[in-house]
Amino acid sequence: MAEPIPFHRPDIGAEELEAVTAVLESGWLTTGPRTRKFEERFAELVGVPHAVALNSATAALHLSLAAAGIGPGDEVIVPTMTFAATAEVVTAVGAKVVLADCDPSTLNLRAQDVRDHLTSRTAAVMPVHYAGLPCDMDPILELAGEHDLHVFDDAAHAFPAECPTGHVGSLATATSFSFYATKTITTGEGGMLTTSDEELASRARMLSLHGLSRDAWRRYDGRSPWDYDIVAPGFKYNLTDIAAAIGLAQLDKAELLRDQRRDLALRYLDELSGVTGITPLAGYETAGHAYHLFVVRVARDVRSRDEVAEDLRDADIGISVHFKPLHLHPLYRDDHASEAFPNATDAFHEILSLPLFPSMTMAQQDRVITELAAAMEAT
Ligand SMILES: *Cc1c(COP(=O)(O)O)cnc(C)c1O
Repeated sequence: MAEPIPFHRPDIGAEELEAVTAVLESGWLTTGPRTRKFEERFAELVGVPHAVALNSATAALHLSLAAAGIGPGDEVIVPTMTFAATAEVVTAVGAKVVLADCDPSTLNLRAQDVRDHLTSRTAAVMPVHYAGLPCDMDPILELAGEHDLHVFDDAAHAFPAECPTGHVGSLATATSFSFYATKTITTGEGGMLTTSDEELASRARMLSLHGLSRDAWRRYDGRSPWDYDIVAPGFKYNLTDIAAAIGLAQLDKAELLRDQRRDLALRYLDELSGVTGITPLAGYETAGHAYHLFVVRVARDVRSRDEVAEDLRDADIGISVHFKPLHLHPLYRDDHASEAFPNATDAFHEILSLPLFPSMTMAQQDRVITELAAAMEAT
């Protein structure tokens, strides 16, 4: 039996090991100088004045809404084709989740999907750059401008990624990135909020650490007074210097890792073009894609996605499905009719995410392709 092929494998090398060892030996483990440096370098790469390091993208999404004052009485438009996190933070601040459909070929939120759900209470929209393909932001930003909406984009899949008008992370009211173990760069767990709004950034920073008026790490550096004020009911969302040290090492190679994923994705496109019933999502040849996920559609009339997924698992190949749309989950089902989201509902029965990670070898990729082709021919 061939070696198992994982769905994902993080790219952790000597740089990360050395960086973590240095933090452990430094005597300062939590939020401190490395976190500040990680924020500065990240902000520079994205081309945005403010970056706030946090312990997850979920925390970044939550603080974006909280810092902007989204709350009870507000409606927030969220694509149904996303992970739990994008919507749960809306509920957490007391606002109402309003789900929206997506483009059938890319599964990204479009301005027209947003327009369908606008009411006088709509306060914000949360585009998700699905699989790493940036949403078409200009029409969304234009619509948001016309209706005075905040745009909080979920860029958990999209670092590094570029729109024609700028890096993802520099275009919206605030953007949330994820450094979860399977994302394009990782700190184990971690996240980043970026924004051009200085007030939003400082409010998010304050809320990230118990609503204290002063960063705890400055309280202990010997140069600042011991005193602090609690000015708001906050959270415990700060990133550790251990994680930030890994993040700094990952930032150095983020573009190289993206290029490696792109080469593999383009090779998948080529090699899968002859496999009957397999159609990759659109957008993989678009400049600015982060290539986080390689997603194909499995034609139902050839073979069911679930059977294909099972065959690949039996062949020890890691696969996944991104995502079961929110409107099909019990929490959201009652408030949202399934017919309201025809594109997401239709896609859900066919989508399959194939292994894609920088250190994947061509031999591993060939085996995925061979097994997928065999699964499509089996009956
Ligand atoms: C992974 C993911 C998140 C959550 O990221 P965490 O860092 O684990 O909080 C949010 N949105 C999407 C679309 C994701 O895939």
